[in-house]
Amino acid sequence: MTGRDSTTRTSMQSPDSYWLTTGPEWTRGSAPLPRHTGVCVLGAGVMGSTLAYWLTRAGQRPLVLDRNPSPAMGSSGRNAGRLIQGGHAQHAVAIERHGHAEALALYQATLVNRDLVREVVAREGLETTRHATAKLDLAVEEDEALELKRTAEALRSDGIPAEWLDLPAAREVFGTDLPDTVLGGLYRPDQDSVHSVAYVRGMADAAARAGAEFVCGVTAMSVEPVQGGGWLVTTDAGQVAAEHVVVALNAWTPRLLPELAPVIQPVRGQLVQTAPVPFRIPQWGLDRGLVYGGQAPDGSLLLGGLRTTVPGRDEGIDLPQDGNTPAFSPELADRLATALPALLPETTGVPVVRAWSGVMAFTPDRCPLVGAWPGREGLWVMAAFNGHGMPYSQVMPEQLAERILGGPGAGIPTAFDPARFL
Ligand SMILES: Cc1cc2nc3c(=O)[nH]c(=O)nc-3n(C[C@H](O)[C@H](O)[C@H](O)COP(=O)(O)OP(=O)(O)OC[C@H]3O[C@@H](n4cnc5c(N)ncnc54)[C@H](O)[C@@H]3O)c2cc1C
Repeated sequence: MTGRDSTTRTSMQSPDSYWLTTGPEWTRGSAPLPRHTGVCVLGAGVMGSTLAYWLTRAGQRPLVLDRNPSPAMGSSGRNAGRLIQGGHAQHAVAIERHGHAEALALYQATLVNRDLVREVVAREGLETTRHATAKLDLAVEEDEALELKRTAEALRSDGIPAEWLDLPAAREVFGTDLPDTVLGGLYRPDQDSVHSVAYVRGMADAAARAGAEFVCGVTAMSVEPVQGGGWLVTTDAGQVAAEHVVVALNAWTPRLLPELAPVIQPVRGQLVQTAPVPFRIPQWGLDRGLVYGGQAPDGSLLLGGLRTTVPGRDEGIDLPQDGNTPAFSPELADRLATALPALLPETTGVPVVRAWSGVMAFTPDRCPLVGAWPGREGLWVMAAFNGHGMPYSQVMPEQLAERILGGPGAGIPTAFDPARFL
């Protein structure tokens, strides 16, 4: 693989992501662990940090614990930064799977999210962490083209802008060449990308300014009910009693809630990054999103996916106890680097300068778990976003904060209810 640090090939540790390397440092020191708190949030990824933000907006002073020295060192700092509207499934497929009303609720949640992201980054002075783009889902097989055409129609009939483009039109939108094997693509304007680490640490910092307490470098080990109400969180730095505990630990959630081990599957995701290129491309996906890409603010291209090309290599992998990613796969990085010029001919000769891995958490129905743990008052879960946490990164925390404080939180789709598995 061209231009890659030679240590990458021999080491099974993932190098840091572009976002972690270029993002702002977390300069807030950690206070000692308090003995009591109202809401204790476990995990300072995008979900936990943003939940803390929305809790402070409702007048709370939540406690956030993370085992890393800074927020965003788990998957939230290692992703591709794309806020893909609609989340995991194409709208036509989601309609078949969930029925029209629920599929529309799922899609609309991500549109509410888009508006919230724009509102929040403006309010908190984080505009430079976001940029606007479009999404182009490409098809090389007839059946995928049909699915994307049906999705374009279904979205339009729900009032959401979307269009099927044939290859010449897709090439025009893409801004660079596409191979002749591409049949065309589903075009959706008005999408967002973020600098993941700047966005998440910006949210955490805004929450901390408003009274949330972040205690980093502390590993949560168990959550137990307390007789008479509330919860006791045991960590490697002592215990905290809380009225509410929210487990936002992504693929590590089953460590604290072992009932979820059969439900949450850890899946490795990897990305390669090129040197900056002189053209701009939209976010794109191919082969039902199994290969995907985007562009960082400095013009470099990101390419990820190919996780199903070697059975058993990436899905259901072992998670190290303390690491932030599963072992890095040089073989997968090489496959991605080789795939790039085949997909984007103009990248021939453009060096790949970085590759990194992270972990995603998949569920059998590809919907996350957001809401109350049934029958255990004060215990909440917000995890397993199936590789698509960013398009829910404001709306789910905002709505969950409302529920924790006794409100309806009606914007959480019923398909996300943890009770479906418990
Ligand atoms: C390569 C890759 C590309 C991706 N691309 C995209 C994309 O473009 N768009 C998108 O929407 N999604 C993408 N995702 C998925 C996205 O990153 C996740 O959905 C999202 O980051 C989940 O956020 P989270 O807060 O739930 O998890 P995390 O960010 O993983 O946060 C969990 C936190 O829990 C902490 N923790 C774990 N165990 C403990 C413990 N015992 N005690 C204390 N703290 C603990 C970790 O340190 C971590 O900070 C991608 C993922 C990968 C790996």
